[in-house]
Amino acid sequence: MTDIIVIGAGCAGLSAAIYAARAGKSVLVLEQEAVGGQIASSPRVENYPGIPAISGLEFSDRLLAQAEALGVELDYVRATGLRPGRTMAVLTEDGEKSCKSVVLAAGAKHRALGLPRERELAGRGVGYCAVCDGAFYKGRDVAVVGGGSAALQSAEYLAAICRSVTLIHRRNEFRGEAALAARAAALPNVRLELESVVTALLGEPELTGVTVKNRASGAEKQLAVAGLFIAAGQTPDTAAFETAVRLDESGYVLASEDCATSAPGVFAAGDCRRKPVRQLTTAAADGAVAALAACAWADRAAEGEAR
Ligand code: NAP
Repeated sequence: MTDIIVIGAGCAGLSAAIYAARAGKSVLVLEQEAVGGQIASSPRVENYPGIPAISGLEFSDRLLAQAEALGVELDYVRATGLRPGRTMAVLTEDGEKSCKSVVLAAGAKHRALGLPRERELAGRGVGYCAVCDGAFYKGRDVAVVGGGSAALQSAEYLAAICRSVTLIHRRNEFRGEAALAARAAALPNVRLELESVVTALLGEPELTGVTVKNRASGAEKQLAVAGLFIAAGQTPDTAAFETAVRLDESGYVLASEDCATSAPGVFAAGDCRRKPVRQLTTAAADGAVAALAACAWADRAAEGEAR
C-alpha cells in the first residue's frame, strides 16, 4: 500500500510529493491532464522568490524532475472519487488505489463565460490559454476577456504575436497585479475596452468577431477578431470529491490552517482549497503543510497497525 496518494500534479501536489518523499514516505501522484496544472500555461513567472523569471512550463518540468528524483511515482489517470477511512481508497478510472493518507490538490479549471455557442467555438477561435494557442493567431486581431493577472499576462503575451489585442474587462479597474496592468496598457497594440462585456460570439464555423457592450452607456458594437481568449478566473475541480470532504458554496475544499479537511487523513492543498490568496508561493506552501500533516497521519496509521 502506498503511504500517501497526492491527487493533482500542479505546484501544490508536486510540492506535497517532494516533502512527503523527503520524509521517507512512498508517494503516488495522480494526474488527469498535464503536469504543472495552471502554471504550465503561464508565459512567465516573475514572482516566485529566488527565481526572477522562468516560463511556467520550465517551472513545471523542474518540479516534476525534483519529485521523480526523490522516487515519487506519477500515474496519468483521473481520480473519480475518494473513500476516506482507516485505509483510504482513491477511486480512479483504472480502479481503486489504497493508501494511508491523501493530499487533495486537484486545482481549478478555467471559468467559461457561459455565452451562447461558447462550447461549440472552443478551439475554433475561442480559447482559454494564450500560451497554448496564441501562435495560431500570429499577425491577426484577437481579444482577451478578464481583468485578473492571467488576463493581463495573456494580453501582453499575445501582443508580441498578434497584430492587435483588445482587452475587455467588465469593470474600470483591474483585479490583477498593478505592474502587469501598467505593462499591458503601455503596449502600442493593446487596446482597452473597460466597463465592457462580450454579449455574443460571431462567425460560423469559426469565430470572426464578438459583440461588446459597454455597461455604462449600454452601447453595443461589433469587434472583428479571429481569437477570443477567456481569462475569467477559475472554478475548483472538486466535484468528484463532494461526498468525501466538505466544500464551500463555490466548491472549494474547506480546510483548516494545517490543511486538514472534514475527512480524517485527507488534506487539501493549493487552488482547490478555500483561501484568500492563490499564488504559486501559496500553492507550494500548502503542499508542504499538507504533506507534513499527511506524513504524521500515515505514521499514526502505521503505529495503529503495529499494535
Ligand atoms: P482572477 O484573479 O479571479 O480574475 C478573474 C477576472 O475575470 C476578474 O477580473 C473578473 O472580473 C473577471 N471575470 C470573472 N467572471 C467573469 C465573467 N463572467 N465575465 C467577465 N469577466 C469575468 O483570475 P486569474 O486572473 O485567473 O487569477 C487566478 C489567481 O492566480 C489569482 O489569485 C491571481 O493572482 C493568480 N495569478 C497570478 C499571476 C501572477 O503572475 N502574479 C498570474 C496569473 C494568475 P472582476 O474583477 O470584475 O471580478
